[in-house]
Amino acid sequence: MSEDHLSIDTKVFLNNGVEMPVFGLGTYLSGSSRETRDIVSYALEIGHRHFDTARFYGNERDIGEAIRGSGIPREDIFITTKLWNDDHGFHRALGAFDESLRDLGLDYVDLYLIHWPVQGLRNESWRALEKLLVDGRCRAIGVSNYTIAHLKELLDLSPVMPSINQVEFHPFLYQKDLLAFCRSNDIRLESYSPLTKGRKLDDLRLGEIARAYAKSPAQILIRWALQKDVIVIPKSSRKEKIRENAAVFDFAISGEDMDRLDALHGNFRVTWDPTTVP
Ligand code: NDP
Repeated sequence: MSEDHLSIDTKVFLNNGVEMPVFGLGTYLSGSSRETRDIVSYALEIGHRHFDTARFYGNERDIGEAIRGSGIPREDIFITTKLWNDDHGFHRALGAFDESLRDLGLDYVDLYLIHWPVQGLRNESWRALEKLLVDGRCRAIGVSNYTIAHLKELLDLSPVMPSINQVEFHPFLYQKDLLAFCRSNDIRLESYSPLTKGRKLDDLRLGEIARAYAKSPAQILIRWALQKDVIVIPKSSRKEKIRENAAVFDFAISGEDMDRLDALHGNFRVTWDPTTVP
């Protein structure tokens, strides 16, 4: 994608030709049913068209309700959900997908991901995802929390490549090798916890760069991910923060400041660590 023309509507092509918005709303711990519905409706109102959920988040029903209630054509909205760890195996995965679809109240999902590379079962589950893709029940399939080793295993085994690998990715965990590997295999990287769950927003070096652009630290982190050509899904349950996080399309971070942000890398993780999963 050309960073000069980035907007909330910008989409990228996945390796199977499906278009995916580069910017979306994360929804883990989105709040009560009512709060979730309100937040998703608000995000739709201000132009969001991409939502990231998961069976594990327990909010598929509320997100589906808000989407269906918006009156926006289904095909204009991109929904990701994920297969939870307890639902692995060919038949169980198919059943779990049915439940997600039923709770969302939709006919299809845009992207279905394996949430975590569960040892011993992940490849069997992948066959279920392949079937869902062939049957037209999801438009694209992918994985989450896969390391290079997990991806190599999958690429050796299956003719169907994942379209996406959704992983923790921000300057404090700049997974350069994984990004390069995904790129060279035509797999899009998607950044979760792009705001470090808020834990590094008061970092002094980040703050200095943010001040230079008259932007917030959160906006700098989101823009950094976008300029890395990565799909990004910041989460907020506060309307003013959802608005703030979407105001990242009217400026660009210079090459020099991108380098300074890259240098914040310290292998700092805020979510789970898949590197120990065989
Ligand atoms: P984020 O890095 O997006 O940070 C979210 C936190 O930052 C919340 O506490 C939020 O609080 C706060 N916040 C949001 N915007 C601002 C702002 N502008 N200024 C200050 N604080 C802010 O963390 P997540 O872990 O939620 O990651 C994003 C999404 O990625 C998830 O919601 C989920 O959809 C996905 N994910 C996927 C995982 C996987 O294994 N595949 C793992 C983790 C996340 P508040 O809501 O109060 O504004």
